[in-house]
Amino acid sequence: MKFSEVAGHKELIGQLRANIDAGRVSHAQLIVGECGWGTLQVALAYVQYLHCTHRVEGEPCGQCPSCVQIASLAHPDVHFVFPIVNPSKTPTSDSFIGEWREIVAKSDAIFDEHDWYDVIDAQNAQGIIPQKEADGIIRKLSFKAFEGERKSVIIWLPERMKREAANSLLKILEEPWEGTLFLLISEHPESLLTTITSRTQTINVGRISPEELAQYAVTRLGATPEAAASAARVADGSIITLRRVLGEGEGANVDNFELFTRLMRLSYSNRHLELFEWAEQLASAGRENQKNFIEYALGLIRESYMLTAGVESVSHLWGAERAFCEKFAPYVANHNVEALVSEMERALRDIGQNGNPRMVFTHFALAVSKLIAMRG
Ligand SMILES: [Zn+2]
Repeated sequence: MKFSEVAGHKELIGQLRANIDAGRVSHAQLIVGECGWGTLQVALAYVQYLHCTHRVEGEPCGQCPSCVQIASLAHPDVHFVFPIVNPSKTPTSDSFIGEWREIVAKSDAIFDEHDWYDVIDAQNAQGIIPQKEADGIIRKLSFKAFEGERKSVIIWLPERMKREAANSLLKILEEPWEGTLFLLISEHPESLLTTITSRTQTINVGRISPEELAQYAVTRLGATPEAAASAARVADGSIITLRRVLGEGEGANVDNFELFTRLMRLSYSNRHLELFEWAEQLASAGRENQKNFIEYALGLIRESYMLTAGVESVSHLWGAERAFCEKFAPYVANHNVEALVSEMERALRDIGQNGNPRMVFTHFALAVSKLIAMRG
């Protein structure tokens, strides 16, 4: 992947490129951010540029053997480690390298842990990075590099390392191997051993801007400019959410908007019986629609809160959504915003883990309505 193919993050990429050009490549780096923000894209472009033998104008050439092999995730000196299931039967990440190449190619290197577990058919099992994986890394690093002097190890979601694996990795990081780069890509760096994070240089990958998301939606997902702009506003910096919102077609936001405004109206007028009907309707809408709705609602809650906080310039609303949120904004403030967001995140998690939608949304509707009816 070339730098120019990474969604967003122009400034960060400029810094990373400049560091490589100046020979400032720290041996262990921790890329932090949500998968949907494109952390793996950043890592792949970084590694390709680093290994490319004919860099052209700040980009990997795309044609040298290194570039070609990295693009197909088949470079003999670039190793991938990621969470797997059934580690007793299937020793290491290498056993899943076919599935890994497939999901990276299919998703433009933007997918999350759930997407990955779907591909390897994990059936709700939690993936782990076992001790054997650390042994495998040491074995691979002890060979001479095949092409040139460099080796890179990309560890996706190191927070899934078992304790022993983490300790082994720590030993490797304590005594860096000549010419070897470790790139750790983490959504939850706070779950890593502090002795590991303290030995890495952190690269924070933030949200992708709404403008860049909209551009991605048009150029890569074939959305119309109107649908792209609308989806980008509620995608909260994430390509994964952007895809989900767009996946429901252009009319999706209209339904979501109707569902959201109805929930809020019922909430501040305390019409509890109708809240049950509302929950029932959403419960029968299918999981993707449900997730889509909660993410949309989270977006509008955040935007409304920003209006309350007087941060209008960063608000991306317009049209009917804006008109509604302006009226609704006083109901979302410091006294309830955190609780509202956490109720929504909880519903999202429960639905993601196959919770009973009727129970999830009945609880959700009642909890949200109570919070909205609260006076600050
Ligand atoms: Zn190249």
